[in-house]
Amino acid sequence: MAVKSLPAEFYSAFLSDAAKERKPSPIRGLYPLEARPGVISLLAGKPNATTFPLTSVKLTSRSPADPSKEIETEVSGQALAEGLQYGPTAGIPSLLEWVYDLQQREHGRKKGEGWRVSIGSGSQDVIYKAVATMVNPGDAVLIECPAYAGVLPMFQALHCDLIEVETDAQGIKSSSLRSILQNWSENKPKPKVLYTVPYGCNPTGMTATLDRRREVLALAQEHNFIILEDDPYYFLYYGNAARYPSYFSLELEEPEVGRVLRFDSLSKILSSGIRIGFASGPEPLLQAIDMHTAVANLQTSSLTQAIAFSLLDAWGYDGFKTHTETVSRFYREKRDVFEVAMRRHLSGLAEWSTPEAGMFFWFKLLLVKDGEEGDSESIIRTKAYERGVLALPGTVFLPRGGKTAYVRASFSLLGEEEVEEAVKRLRETILEARAQ
Ligand code: PMP
Repeated sequence: MAVKSLPAEFYSAFLSDAAKERKPSPIRGLYPLEARPGVISLLAGKPNATTFPLTSVKLTSRSPADPSKEIETEVSGQALAEGLQYGPTAGIPSLLEWVYDLQQREHGRKKGEGWRVSIGSGSQDVIYKAVATMVNPGDAVLIECPAYAGVLPMFQALHCDLIEVETDAQGIKSSSLRSILQNWSENKPKPKVLYTVPYGCNPTGMTATLDRRREVLALAQEHNFIILEDDPYYFLYYGNAARYPSYFSLELEEPEVGRVLRFDSLSKILSSGIRIGFASGPEPLLQAIDMHTAVANLQTSSLTQAIAFSLLDAWGYDGFKTHTETVSRFYREKRDVFEVAMRRHLSGLAEWSTPEAGMFFWFKLLLVKDGEEGDSESIIRTKAYERGVLALPGTVFLPRGGKTAYVRASFSLLGEEEVEEAVKRLRETILEARAQ
């Protein structure tokens, strides 16, 4: 059955005033015309690439299928020329094609069916531009609570009315979302967006269940908002159950698609320093994001895109999948080590749910005093640090601030001995806090 997309006009209500004011770049829009055979272009202020000294970039990577072997590849010739020069705003064609193929395989979304991709300098870049493209100062924004601390300043700088949606071990609580929306004051403009991290949420480590995803999507239809699906931990899912479909995939079940703007990242699977992420979603929104890029930084580095593509192309999709499976197994083992230490040292002192994706434990310090849950802020920021362990007090992830007994601990980097020592130090800190 053909996919029916929401019409382009639908999105004008979802664009910020700034995005509506932004004019397309008078030069970048004409680049494709240079490709017509016989055209002599006097158009772009591109430097002459014959003056660039790089002649090739040689890459060696561990083979996904057999890490004892190395795969060699090279960015040279036409691919290098493309990597060294200014390129299209949305990304270099070869990497864009790889992403379209990935989104079809992973999420069932076919190229040309009303959606588009834009490559950013990490997903943070395209998330920031999406927010700037959709949200006006003072707008109400639905945001899961706790939320990734890296997006909060985006909304806070716009003085948004951050509407916290509760989360639990099944991810974002659709019942809480429903009640917020049902009780929405009639004279207050409705929220245009909901921000959520569905796999291995940062900071809670939790993954949204299929039921929750379905209910949130139904609410997006009913109450007319766009889901900002920030999913950098998608490939770091290591749960026993089959993977849940993304919102981007689930919306194919709806009569009309186009309510999901999805963000992916290569940071956790290829390299965080390579700075490649991508936004996938409705064409009009992606176009507006590109217009922001054309003003802000022209494009994401062509060279890092060419390097990433060269590697991914040499591996093939199967190699890529094998690699992501190896990475997710790695984090599962790290999770297990951390949890063993937590059970050993923090039983009765802290409470947590076991993450099935990502790299975080979110645990509650059991500090209850006079019926109050307590606050992890000074205990973690000061007392734990004095004992030589550094973690994040939960308050930094609360969109509207406030007290919480929760703490975020990242288990991505440490070996067994360090984990043991860190968790012991946490134990001593909590015991001391409880004694006071
Ligand atoms: N979203 C979430 C939830 C994250 O945890 C991160 C990285 N910490 C990002 C986005 C940004 O990732 P990147 O820009 O490296 O793709």
